[in-house]
Parts: sequence; C-alpha cells; structure tokens
Amino acid sequence: MKKALLPLALALLVPVISPGWGFFGHRTITQVAVYALPSGMQNFYFRHMAQLVKLSTAPDERRSDDPTEESKHFIDMDHFGDNPFGLMPKAYDKAVAKYTADTLKKYGTVPWTVLDVKEKLTDAFKEGDTTAIIALSADLDHYVADAFVPLHTTENYDGQLTKQQGIHSLWESKLPELFIAQYKLDSEKADYLKDPQAAIWQVLQASYGFLGATFDIEAEINKKFSTEKKYTYSHKYGKTRRSYSDDFAKEYNKKVGGMVAYRLKGAPTMVASFWYTAWKDAGSPDLNKLMHPSKLSKDEKEQLDTQLKAWKENQLVDQSLLLALQKPEAAPTNPADIPDENAPKAPAAPAADQPAKVKVKQKQDDGPKQKTKVKKDDAKKPDDAFGD
Ligand SMILES: [Zn+2]
Repeated sequence: MKKALLPLALALLVPVISPGWGFFGHRTITQVAVYALPSGMQNFYFRHMAQLVKLSTAPDERRSDDPTEESKHFIDMDHFGDNPFGLMPKAYDKAVAKYTADTLKKYGTVPWTVLDVKEKLTDAFKEGDTTAIIALSADLDHYVADAFVPLHTTENYDGQLTKQQGIHSLWESKLPELFIAQYKLDSEKADYLKDPQAAIWQVLQASYGFLGATFDIEAEINKKFSTEKKYTYSHKYGKTRRSYSDDFAKEYNKKVGGMVAYRLKGAPTMVASFWYTAWKDAGSPDLNKLMHPSKLSKDEKEQLDTQLKAWKENQLVDQSLLLALQKPEAAPTNPADIPDENAPKAPAAPAADQPAKVKVKQKQDDGPKQKTKVKKDDAKKPDDAFGD
C-alpha cells in the first residue's frame, strides 16, 4: 500500500522555484531606484513610490495568464555555445537573423524586452501619460532587475540539471530575505545611458560570470549537509514544498552573500539609469506638471529627506523604512514561509501539454545534466494575491 502511494507523494513534492528576484528583492530594488534618481525626476517617482513598489512584481504575476510574458524575464545564454556573448548579436534583428525569433523566444528575450519597454516609457513621457509612465517604469524596473540574477542567464535556472533544485529561490529570495540587514543598499546615483543596448548586455554578461560560483559553492556546502539538514518542507494547498533550510542558507550566504548583495546594490542604479535615459530621450519633460498637487507637501519632503539620508547611511533596514519589510496584513511572519512568491519559472518552452523533455548535457565541471521540464501548471501561484 505504501509503495503505491509513493509516486503520488513524489509528484506532490514541488520544489520552490522562483521567477526572478523574489517579491522582496523586486520591491527593495524599486524603492532604492527612486532614491538613485536625479532631482528632476525624484519628486514624481517619490510621490508614486508605493505604487511602483507594488507594481514591480506585476510582470511575474502576469506569467500564468499571459503566454507572451514568460520569455521576457530571462535569456539562457549557455544554450548558445561556450562563448555565447561573443556569438550572440546584440541587436534583436541581427539575433533573429542568426537564430530565428522562435529560438529567441524559447530561450528568453530579457535584453530586448528591456529595450522595448524603455522605448515605450520614452513615448509615455512624451505623451505625459502618468498611468503609462508608472506602469511602464514598474515593468522596466522588473526586467532590468531580473537581468541582474545569474540564474536568469542559464538553462540550468533552478539547478535542475545538476541536482541543485531550489537554488533559484535560495539565491534570489531566501538570502535577501534573511540577510538584507547585512547587505548594503547605498547604491550609486543614476547615469544617462548613451548605449542602453550595451548596458543591458553588460549586466547579463556579469550575471553569467557569477554562475560558476553560484553552483560550485552550493555543491561544496552540500558535502557538509545531510538531506534532512539541507532542506525544509512546508505544506500548503495539498502540496509539499521543499526548500533549502535556514542552516544551509546561512552557510551559503557566507560565501555567496557578497555576490547577492552586489547584484542587489547594482540593480537599482541601473533601473534608475534606464528611467532617467527614457525621460531624457523624451526631452526631459517637466514632471511637476503631472503631479497634483505639483509639489511635494512639507510632509512628503520631510519623508523623502529622511529616507534619502537613511539610504546614504545604509540605515533603511535599521530605521524600518524598507517597504518590502513592511508586511501586508495576513503575511506570514517567517520569510522562509513565502513560497507564494516563488512560482516556478515555467519552461522557456513550447506548449504546456508537451511531454517532458529530457536533455543530457556535459560540461567540464558540472557533470551530466538532466533537464526536466517544469509543467506550466506548476507555475500557478495559488495565493498570488498575497504578493499584493
Ligand atoms: Zn521576473
């Protein structure tokens, strides 16, 4: 009897996989990006900061409903060979000519999505359309931030090819959630991007460069952990979810935390630089005209000054000013209990009803890899609403 139940039990064991920075990371990056803006834009963005922070996760929330959304969040560069950044044309048209649009869609389009949304944001600035400016700024913010995550640049996005399932969520959700107080958030100010295309590709190449350590350090720590100590299990909606334990995360953070912190600190500057570049390219329109009332109130001004000071002194967490840490009601108290934000990254793949594709890939140091497709259905987040 027990034997018969086993396959079912295994089928219900869903690893916690996350689609981008967890909600926590996206929200943090968005808030800090507002501080990194130049003064001509900052008041407008500060006025709308809470909304931007909230909308920063909207692209992930759309994934289960919008079939065109999936491929916008990543690019599996290792699919394109050993020297993918040398081989891949940076411009979309040239990349399509070399690899076809279907292939690009399958393996991800994040760099071109960033550039496309940046153009749309430029148009929204020209039109003075506040709603569009906010929505597109949040989208642009999300995709730029995703490009900062190493695991968004590989087919082995959740360690599923190297028996390291759950590493995606460990890296981009669990570590920032547990160790944010140790990470410095005093990011650099925004710069105008003379070549946005080169800028986003640079981000991706840097992310890709961190992949070796991301996997190797997990494997190294793994040697010291028994399975019982390595993982923790949570039960929700009839499913058992497995994720890395706090003890494992602590060890992983000792060696990888600096890298996570570095990406978390770099992302807001790049986000703000993309916002700034779109605004400049639109002719630097007066954003005060879009504000009603057009100036920050005394109260708002004081809040902004306090927050900017806290940001520069790296005190946002200590002074409880980080919006991502201000839990919406009904939120779990333990960050490790937030699987909701961690919908699996569905395959950069064709139809959901296709059979699981098994792919074996040999890499110098990684050993044999088996690629198992995650079914689209698994990407459904039962309580997305939690992420508000
Ligand atoms: Zn994403």
